[in-house]
Amino acid sequence: MSNDYRPMWEELGLDLDAHDALLNVLNQGYGDIYLSQQNRPETMAYFDFVMSEVHGLRIRELLDEKDKGRKIVGSYCVFVPEEIVLAADATLVGLCSGADFALEEVENWLPRNTCALIKSSFGFKLGKVCPYLECADMIVGENTCDGKKKAYETFSSLVENLYVMDLPQVKSDPGKTLLAAEFDRFRQAMEHLTGKPITAESLKYGIETVNAKRAALHRLYALRHADPAPISGLDALLANQVSFYDNPARFTESVHKICDELESRIAEKKGVFPEKTPRILVSGCPQAVPNWKLHHIVETSGAVIVGEESCVGERGTRNLTDDTGGTPEEMMEAIVDRYFQINCAIFTPNGDRLDHIRQMAADYKADAVIHYSLQFCQPYLMESLPVENTLKNEGLPALRIETDYSMQDAGQLKTRIEAFIEQLR
Ligand code: SF4
Ligand code: SF4
Repeated sequence: MSNDYRPMWEELGLDLDAHDALLNVLNQGYGDIYLSQQNRPETMAYFDFVMSEVHGLRIRELLDEKDKGRKIVGSYCVFVPEEIVLAADATLVGLCSGADFALEEVENWLPRNTCALIKSSFGFKLGKVCPYLECADMIVGENTCDGKKKAYETFSSLVENLYVMDLPQVKSDPGKTLLAAEFDRFRQAMEHLTGKPITAESLKYGIETVNAKRAALHRLYALRHADPAPISGLDALLANQVSFYDNPARFTESVHKICDELESRIAEKKGVFPEKTPRILVSGCPQAVPNWKLHHIVETSGAVIVGEESCVGERGTRNLTDDTGGTPEEMMEAIVDRYFQINCAIFTPNGDRLDHIRQMAADYKADAVIHYSLQFCQPYLMESLPVENTLKNEGLPALRIETDYSMQDAGQLKTRIEAFIEQLR
């Protein structure tokens, strides 16, 4: 990334030395993990470029938007409705939280046995290394798991602009009423932030823009059903990760370009790995940039990842928002309906998630499922046992992985994963 960005980073209050260290690790990791892959679709060049400019060009674009009066909203969860943010003429960016940073300092604020994702969100703030966080006019937290809920109480003393959204934990009528009330409160907060009223027209624009982005990803997911796999799990994961902070229209167009190329590859039976390579579905905790650990290990151990039942994947994007409503009230109701279907493990009971895993395994012709949990993530760890047991009882091999962002267990994980894949052959 060009040194020309240094004044911009400095103005955002980043710690330039720490930020250099982060970018070095990121660039090195990207080179080792992504650029070393064979047979990649040529259209992935766009995502290589996006990653090479992740703290550069995109930040400059966001700052240009801000200069024109547009507000930037940061979020940590797929429950934050982008439709409403866009309808208020603001931009939503995901705050990635996919790498350890400033761990020692983080443990002055959070217990050691907190999941890596929450620790990462603190580390990026305490270490002053995230330009997205620093340029956000509002940061939205959400009451999902207990860890996040309590962490936001502490986080509010580190940032001035935290807005916390309450969320239901049960998919009941009262639960849906709570979500509707919270989305309405968020609508008002967005209007207050931007000073722009949310109208039927602007909501329609928000719904159509986000639906187009999701529909492009659905097209990509469907192409991953093919054998040989036309794209690696790593590259598909990257597309999902970039969807959280790229310009939505440009992202949509870029994903369609990949899909066009993948269709040709499928017609020519050209894959990233040979036909009949064992196919793995990954299910569990979100894998935010630059968390590529599991995909890298699996895809260098003789298997290919064909789908992600994850918030950075199909759980986060699977349903479109009904766009047929004519009034703001009808459209808000459609948004609530769509988000209420997300099968996050914070819900109890959460049987729909299991149905979705089964459905995905069948659609993607998966030979096995790897359940991925971050250490200390109670919701997904608690669900991992029933998921594993049910799948195994139904004859689908399943492996439970519990890990963090460090590479300390990489060798041990590789040994377990290789043995698991060997059994699938
Ligand atoms: S796993 Fe739950 S809390 Fe995490 S991003 Fe997804 S919906 Fe939000
Ligand atoms: S990974 Fe688990 S513990 Fe961590 S924030 Fe997500 S749901 Fe909460």
